[in-house]
Amino acid sequence: MISTHEMLRRAQRNGYAVPAFNVHNLESINVVSEVATRLRSPLIIAFTPSTITYSGFESLFAIIENLKNTCDIPLTMHLDHHEDIQIVKDAIRYGVRSVMIDASHYSFEKNIEITRDIVSFAQKYGASVEAELGVLSGQEDDLVVDQEHSSYTDPKRAKEFVDKTGIDSLAVAIGTAHGLYHGEVVLDVDRLSAIRMEVDIPLVLHGASGLGIPLVQDCIQRGICKVNIATELKIPFAKSVLDYLHAHPEESDPRKYLTPAKQAMAIVAEEKIRMCLSYNRV
Ligand SMILES: [Zn+2]
Repeated sequence: MISTHEMLRRAQRNGYAVPAFNVHNLESINVVSEVATRLRSPLIIAFTPSTITYSGFESLFAIIENLKNTCDIPLTMHLDHHEDIQIVKDAIRYGVRSVMIDASHYSFEKNIEITRDIVSFAQKYGASVEAELGVLSGQEDDLVVDQEHSSYTDPKRAKEFVDKTGIDSLAVAIGTAHGLYHGEVVLDVDRLSAIRMEVDIPLVLHGASGLGIPLVQDCIQRGICKVNIATELKIPFAKSVLDYLHAHPEESDPRKYLTPAKQAMAIVAEEKIRMCLSYNRV
């Protein structure tokens, strides 16, 4: 099974991005793995701390290990937006091989210090590490950042950050936001190109829900190798459950009301894989 590092390097060499789907339960794990397998796409299944609290780390780990053995596509379990150093290290010790340490809310120096600590630990286990420089607005898990406290990634600092930490991939802030957008989205794509000029590791786009396909594909051309999708998977799922139970208020069988929800989510997952140009790559 190839690592997230190698998955992203392949994407970088071949001009596509690996989709990283944030999942919340067994249904969403089934949807993204089935769709990615059908479309022959590499897949990163991502978990925020609150999803792990919700479903249980050991259960999630076992489910993903099983999928690695049964889906014949490159597939990794990835810890998204983890800030607790001890939790990240424990997960790596347990067997997780792909993590994001998010110390982006600290000072530049502190971000480097925390990230470097995780990288040197992860290297002993062959685990891949993503970190973030700059701060996205919006809501990620329980953390809310308003526009005035967000900041874009500085290209020169990105180079220094990558050199000093030894990370495998870098999440950049170029105007995307977590959650949904209000109004037209303007991304600083020239900044992305400038970061790419300074930094040769795979770049990661967070907050891709709600971005148009041409915009995301432009970002992929400019160096994005991993695209995170969370909010846009949740919406069709919730809407389908709502519609189903509205039409069948007596229904109590989760298999009845969750099956159309899974189908609605699968349509979006397929769109996102096609957007990432990651289909027919394995
Ligand atoms: Zn994110």
